[in-house]
Amino acid sequence: MNNKLYIHNSLSRQKEEFKPLEDGYVGMYVCGPTVYSDVHLGNCRTFVSFDIIYRYLMFLGNKVRYVRNITDVGHLEGDADSDAEDKISKKARLERLEPMEVVQHYSNGFHDMMRIFNTLPPSIEPRATGHIIEQIEMVQSIIDNGYGYEKNGSVYFNTAKFAQENDEYGKLSGRVIDDLLAESRDNLKNQSEKEHPADFAIWIKADPRHLMRWNSPWSVGFPGWHLECSAMSTKYLGQKFDIHGGGNDLKFPHHENEIAQNVGACGCSPAQYWLHANMLLMNGRKMSKSDGNTITPNQLFTGDSPHISKAYSPMAIRFFMLQAHYRSTLDLTDDALLGAEKAYRRLMEANKVLQGLAAAKGAQAGELDQEIDQLIDQAFAEMRDDFNTPKTLARLFELVPKINGIKAGHLDAKELSAETLEKLKKAFSDFIYVIFGLKDEMDAGDGDNSAMDGLMQLIIEMRADARANKDWGTSDKIRDVLKELDIQLKDGKDGTSWTIG
Ligand code: AMP
Ligand code: ZN
Repeated sequence: MNNKLYIHNSLSRQKEEFKPLEDGYVGMYVCGPTVYSDVHLGNCRTFVSFDIIYRYLMFLGNKVRYVRNITDVGHLEGDADSDAEDKISKKARLERLEPMEVVQHYSNGFHDMMRIFNTLPPSIEPRATGHIIEQIEMVQSIIDNGYGYEKNGSVYFNTAKFAQENDEYGKLSGRVIDDLLAESRDNLKNQSEKEHPADFAIWIKADPRHLMRWNSPWSVGFPGWHLECSAMSTKYLGQKFDIHGGGNDLKFPHHENEIAQNVGACGCSPAQYWLHANMLLMNGRKMSKSDGNTITPNQLFTGDSPHISKAYSPMAIRFFMLQAHYRSTLDLTDDALLGAEKAYRRLMEANKVLQGLAAAKGAQAGELDQEIDQLIDQAFAEMRDDFNTPKTLARLFELVPKINGIKAGHLDAKELSAETLEKLKKAFSDFIYVIFGLKDEMDAGDGDNSAMDGLMQLIIEMRADARANKDWGTSDKIRDVLKELDIQLKDGKDGTSWTIG
């Protein structure tokens, strides 16, 4: 079996075989959130995408150092030429809070959300404000190497010069230097300080209203946004590492400038593979706060939004995200969520049935065995093909009717060897829990499924007693309430079982 992993590298725009710098060890850096407001579902999608990548790299046996930063200084607001202000500093000023209170509050909210969606915490979560010294040192190296210049206490990266000397500039984003004129996300008050409009600030002299400020050789100021990721990835993963990721809206200017800074400071491009996750849309448009086209995770969990007809559980939403490839856009609509919820429950139900199956007496590998074996291998091959979760799921859903068919006796269990049955059980549980990071729905709240099982058993017994006593009022009431909760009871010859949906 071919065990190679292929990854689409944004830098080459091609799928390439993944070869870490050191066999068995992977360094991965992903740009984290700017913590000045609540995360929206679009942000969550990007981090869930990288969570699945992280999980799969580990599943393949790699030791992964996953660094995901928190941006808590330097990310300037909007594109306004005249009045760009640091997002966190502005929030703190308006709300009369310490900037670190803003940072703490929204970091907590971000972490809560990541936990609710069952994403694994990164190995290191560095903050920009905790790495000012490293950033100052990097600015100095960039100046020493001739790619930075100081003007009135601010320091700019000399993009024009860099681009002339390195044809790498613009390669990641496909931009041409002359087009960069109006697009810089760190548009500063003093555009005139720059020698070329495409230059960008790596150190910014703080104006009097700016709350976060540090001493530096050039002024009391703060670092430019792109610098933190260059400095922190170098610190924790080295000058060269394996994977750099982020949302694809960060390709330019953020990632392009990160590469320029790294090359400018230490002469080498940082990451071997650049991975970009695509955007979450809502009803066909990019989910974005500035457009008002947004839904918060909490609105989804409670159903409190005009965009949706009911509440959805975190795991149904996580499953919904798995249904699209990370490099494709994903459009959130009520219909799509309803479909995802149903499919998620079908998968979990099939897994429950599967884990309860025992090999038939005298079972031997037959045609069914071969089909199942092949589908399992195909599912893993889809995952190794640039983490293709929708195609992997498609293979698992080809296996679901086989599982249900064996259970119901439509398929001959004698044709399925004990060995393949075990392989199937392990594959389902690895995919569902380890790789996709799904949980059983009842676990989503408090991690305790046995309580729910126990309660349902009690209710089923109460209903059976009521029926035995011809107490139709009670048995109907139980049935109606369960129906409202979307819980179905099935009476079979082995007693009554329950399912959700
Ligand atoms: P920010 O806090 O704006 O720096 O964004 C944090 C992360 O969320 C970045 O990697 C963005 O690319 C990503 N992001 C922002 N909006 C969306 C969206 N609609 N869909 C997916 N990812 C997004
Ligand atoms: Zn970054």
